Amino acid sequence: MSFKGAKVEKFRQRLLAKRRELLSGVHGSKVKSLESTGDEIQDIADQASSAYTKEFLLSIGDTERRMLKQVDEALHKIRQDTYGLCEACGEPIGERRLEALPFARLCIACQEEEERAKAEK
Ligand SMILES: [Zn+2]
Repeated sequence: MSFKGAKVEKFRQRLLAKRRELLSGVHGSKVKSLESTGDEIQDIADQASSAYTKEFLLSIGDTERRMLKQVDEALHKIRQDTYGLCEACGEPIGERRLEALPFARLCIACQEEEERAKAEK
């Protein structure tokens, strides 16, 4: 079973807040130079924004980029109605774990398994 209704909405709001936080963290420091080029950029707004997106993804750190991806994937899963299920075993991840980590992909057992496998490499 996956989460429904008010419960999933709560996690969705937290994911959206996290997403905003990740995006605005960079906005403060990096966007200034782009904005200062002024009118020109508005004429090619679409082009600029996709170029900017690429620029942006390069400008943020690996950690933020990975987290942003996880947040996006979690939001996608909410739309697919598979949110809250472990990607490896398909079992519910558990609400307490999601409270701590709303974009968790794996249940605790599978996460530990994955970390063990990584450590063995
Ligand atoms: Zn699992």
